[in-house]
Amino acid sequence: MNLYEMYDKAGISREVFDYCDKVLAGLKERFEEIDYNAEFNQLKVLKAMQKNKVSDVHFAATSGYGYNDLGRDTLEAVYADVFNTEAALVRPQITCGTHALAIALSANLRPGDELISISGKPYDTLEEVIGIRPSKGSLKEYGVSYRQVELTKEGLFDKESIKNAISDKTKMMAIQRSKGYLSRRTLSVEEIGDVIQFVKSIAPDIIIMVDNCYGEFVETIEPSDFGADMTVGSLIKNPGGGLAPIGGYIVGTKECIDNCAYRLTAPGLGKEVGATLGLMQSFYQGFFMAPEVTAGALKGAIFAANLYEKFGFKVIPDGKEPRYDIIQAIEFGNEQGLIEFCKGIQYAAPVDSYVTPEPWDMPGYDSKVIMAAGAFVQGSSIELSADGPLKPPYTAYFQGGLTWHHAKYGIMKTLLNLVNAGIVKL
Ligand SMILES: *Cc1c(COP(=O)(O)O)cnc(C)c1O
Repeated sequence: MNLYEMYDKAGISREVFDYCDKVLAGLKERFEEIDYNAEFNQLKVLKAMQKNKVSDVHFAATSGYGYNDLGRDTLEAVYADVFNTEAALVRPQITCGTHALAIALSANLRPGDELISISGKPYDTLEEVIGIRPSKGSLKEYGVSYRQVELTKEGLFDKESIKNAISDKTKMMAIQRSKGYLSRRTLSVEEIGDVIQFVKSIAPDIIIMVDNCYGEFVETIEPSDFGADMTVGSLIKNPGGGLAPIGGYIVGTKECIDNCAYRLTAPGLGKEVGATLGLMQSFYQGFFMAPEVTAGALKGAIFAANLYEKFGFKVIPDGKEPRYDIIQAIEFGNEQGLIEFCKGIQYAAPVDSYVTPEPWDMPGYDSKVIMAAGAFVQGSSIELSADGPLKPPYTAYFQGGLTWHHAKYGIMKTLLNLVNAGIVKL
């Protein structure tokens, strides 16, 4: 049996296969660039593991207080080396990306301090952390004030406004690398590095925190290479490599990271406690796999952009733009397109491929939302997943894929669904 026949058995028609093949033929150079970055980053991670003498003793389960957890402490040294920082906090007790960001903020801000987001509106869940939307336990309740500097119309940092926003109270500035679920551009590490230098030249004591979610290993450099005091992310996205079942990380200066540890556990305890319960092998192995997994997800995003662009749908980023995160947005302009796309992703999954995703009223959203995720780890968005709110312009946000070939199959499946529903014609 050849590949054609194998795809046929997996439900992909020859027309869809041929169409996709043609699109892919035009992407060879893009994919080579991605492979170059993956190769570079693979060596970066490998070198850090070797330098820190990672050994199977580090995979042993610890329990209770977790004093002297060698696996945990060595993993943090590996992360610090990869991200080029003094220190790192990488823990299963950090429940998700929002939690990691909340720790970074609340650990380093005190009553009377001001936080400024200089990349416009932050990720939805941070609105409650900061208190933009009133919420129990928000920074606002603790007397931390907040301002926001918008990006320019072109989606660039507005240096003049950033400079003017700084006051005696300004303690921290936050930058979000990925667009998340907004329609703005994602910021490149180079741009982030440039603005960090700019802020530090005016006010060297301002702490810069970067929300690095979805950005890790997309480029060969990270915001931490350019003096970000804290760089923060989730382990069920890129750096967990699909294997970490939970967790978050914060890398940065020793002072900031110590503060984070005292906030995560308790003043006086800090990094010294926190058992790892047998999760260390998956953290190490996932981090080892992460450059390659991220590359697969990126190829999927670029393939989807180029494919759907051909049918006249608006795709963000477009087919040709450079990539700084793994998220792909596709505007279908009608409800059915979005639904059929998400169904395709679900039907392509290794887990729960037999279920049909239905739009539902998700808490915190003002419209129904449809989600496709047949993931090994619940909610993992480094695994092939898609979702979107059922309101104009009916945008599907698509990301992940533990392997490129799974991402490819998922996208073929979406096209097949849209063809069968008569929404696109080949
Ligand atoms: C995913 C994400 C978060 C929050 O992460 P959760 O793990 O969902 O809490 C924050 N910022 C950005 C840009 C993200 O993509």
